Amino acid sequence: MELKLYDTLTREKRVFRPLDPANVRMYVCGPTVYDFAHIGNARPVIVFDVLFRLLRHLYGEGHVTYVRNITDVDDKINARAAQEYPDLPLNEAIRKVTEATDRQFHEDVAALGCLPPTVEPRATENIAEMKALIERLVASGNAYVKADNVLFSVASMPDYGKLSKRPLEEMIAGARVEVASYKRAPMDFVLWKPSKPGEPSWPSPCGIATPGRPGWHTECSAMADRFLWAEAKSRLSQNGLSHPHQFDIHGGGADLVFPHHENEIAQTRCAFHTPLMANFWVHNGFLQVEGRKMAKSEGNFVTIRELLKDWPGEVLRFNMLRTHYRQPIDWTVKGLEEGAKVIDGWSGFIGNCDPVGQPDQIFIEALCDDLNTPQAIARLHQMAHPPVAGLIMAGVTMLGDRIGQEAQRHLKSSAMLMGLLAKTASEHHAARIKAASVDTVAVELLISTRNEARKQRNFSAADRIRDELAKMGVVLHDTKDGTTWEIAR
Ligand SMILES: [Zn+2]
Repeated sequence: MELKLYDTLTREKRVFRPLDPANVRMYVCGPTVYDFAHIGNARPVIVFDVLFRLLRHLYGEGHVTYVRNITDVDDKINARAAQEYPDLPLNEAIRKVTEATDRQFHEDVAALGCLPPTVEPRATENIAEMKALIERLVASGNAYVKADNVLFSVASMPDYGKLSKRPLEEMIAGARVEVASYKRAPMDFVLWKPSKPGEPSWPSPCGIATPGRPGWHTECSAMADRFLWAEAKSRLSQNGLSHPHQFDIHGGGADLVFPHHENEIAQTRCAFHTPLMANFWVHNGFLQVEGRKMAKSEGNFVTIRELLKDWPGEVLRFNMLRTHYRQPIDWTVKGLEEGAKVIDGWSGFIGNCDPVGQPDQIFIEALCDDLNTPQAIARLHQMAHPPVAGLIMAGVTMLGDRIGQEAQRHLKSSAMLMGLLAKTASEHHAARIKAASVDTVAVELLISTRNEARKQRNFSAADRIRDELAKMGVVLHDTKDGTTWEIAR
């Protein structure tokens, strides 16, 4: 099946063909670890987890390399550490902040059903690669040293700005570019800067005496290059594949298009003389809360951690995936309530069915159409409501044996592919299923069919229907006045 993805760089939806189908390569910008992740941070993590899962389904589990970095050197981290641990030496305080935040982040995204990426490189463990990249850029005349900083010269790259397609003046105004005396031009950006005493620092590149640290943009170019190109090229040449200096997919939130991704492209293309950094640039849209922009000052700043106290991870995930990833999303409590109902309904329908079958084709087709998760979810809905009436027409014996179980397995494997049922229903939902509303029409239909079967003394069929209902969480009571039912407690 063909996967199509929308590429921000070319502004078109195209068929995705990996450079090496045996090793599909994707890079996604990860968190800066200084505070609890908020629900806006969760969006790219969930969206690209779905893409990762889909790529694994299409190309095989062992044939996708997903790199998501951890930014553990940043001004925000330094500020946070100084504020939180004023009595500790800064480097020690920083370690405490980054370690705790890193752990929280991983716990949070695991609860959201996200698979761990193949590699999670840390900025501080890739300083040598960043310095090498910076020295290449200085050597090629794309960067210069000024007052112990190394800066990228935007003027040295004639087609800078292709990703965001904005005129230079607009970019300067929009990004509130820092005008500094050491810059040749306002748009020039920092690749390396001197550290103040006490701040994290490394010996500087380019013969600069003052120790310093890398700029944020530099990190991603260096780490993507190390883990998605340098490590892949020997495999490519061994297999007789051409190996242009690029990889398949670069992802992140739309807020990163400018300046972060624009600058990543500038660095990588100029350092390695390559016309492209990644073949596809995939960006998820913005998130707002209850119709308003999320901000600490608005008082509607929601962390993943807070939400997980009230909602299971898959309900949060479901709520995120109900909106197509490129559309803006409005995060509401109402949406969460609806999501909880749907997930509970599915879990009740699936019960403990086993083994897992193949995901549904129509469902996969929806995901292959630029990750159309709303359409994929609509398909899951359909699967969760097998045509009970049609089933009865076809004869009761069909129910337990074929249609019911097949639909269950199909729904389960499809929902699992999207990470919506990471655990079995029984583990995760036992308590919630009891409270879930069941499809009463279906229950009544099944009961009347069972009564019909009993009248005909077809007790095996009647028992199968009772078992089916039990899987839906429905308990029957046969009395001399007829059959009543209730949700199992
Ligand atoms: Zn990045």
